[in-house]
Amino acid sequence: MKRTGIFFAHFQGERLKNFPGALEGLLDKPGVSYYDAVYGSRDGLFYLKPVAERLLVKVHSQNMTESVKRTGDYESALYSAGGTVQAAEEIRRGNIDNAFVFTSFGDHHAGRDFYHGICYFNGAALAIAMLKEKKTKRFAIVDTDSHHGDGTRDIFRRDTGVLHICFCHQNYSDDYNKIDIQIPYDTPDDAYLAKMKEVFIPRVEAFKPEYIFWEYGYDATKGEYGNKGISRDCHIRVAELIKTAADEICKGRLIAILCGGSTRDIAAYTIPRIIAILAELNDRFPSV
Ligand SMILES: [Zn+2]
Ligand SMILES: [Zn+2]
Repeated sequence: MKRTGIFFAHFQGERLKNFPGALEGLLDKPGVSYYDAVYGSRDGLFYLKPVAERLLVKVHSQNMTESVKRTGDYESALYSAGGTVQAAEEIRRGNIDNAFVFTSFGDHHAGRDFYHGICYFNGAALAIAMLKEKKTKRFAIVDTDSHHGDGTRDIFRRDTGVLHICFCHQNYSDDYNKIDIQIPYDTPDDAYLAKMKEVFIPRVEAFKPEYIFWEYGYDATKGEYGNKGISRDCHIRVAELIKTAADEICKGRLIAILCGGSTRDIAAYTIPRIIAILAELNDRFPSV
């Protein structure tokens, strides 16, 4: 069994209204630790910490940070991205093996000097900045949100130490370990999973990252706003593939970060199952 950290911040929106209630039956398992931005003082829980401003300036420009402050969401954005940084720190210290991070705002549209799609700060990039201070050198980011991870790509564009594999609307590949895999509309689950096996798995095996970050957006699900036609069960099978890869390549060091997606029922269906896969509590749900 793996030790899995759950990092929970929820400040706005409908999609996480069923949480943390939807995690019932998982939170009390011995390997599962729960970090909450609000209710950390309850017995047996841990506080989720906001991103330190010292780290923020390493990734985002002063300009961009000032413009987030003007939205009124600055404090909650620091907590939203903070879960990913704290997850990386807890894994680095050996307190947990892997993590699922609930964000209130997304991640991957936050670049060095811009943001859109209410992705204020880039939690994966901030976690990588922290880990680089601790002499970690190689990172993989796999992005299965329906849209292109332009913010993440902007931050790491010429950084060959970061393998960025993005499932989006275009085919692209360069010498800096940046790859886009085109997912057309009406993609069957098997075709999606085949691309994951044919491109992501060999690239990440060859690259040998020390940590894998997974931008888990579910907006590519049929009926969602980034609809690519895949089923909700496709995400569960993707989780199994990425988890297995992390176990084989980087001692299981995997951080799943909630990215795009709007409907409550898909969140409530997929996220507990993904956490069960991370924590190796697969008997909790029937397999898909
Ligand atoms: Zn998206
Ligand atoms: Zn892309």
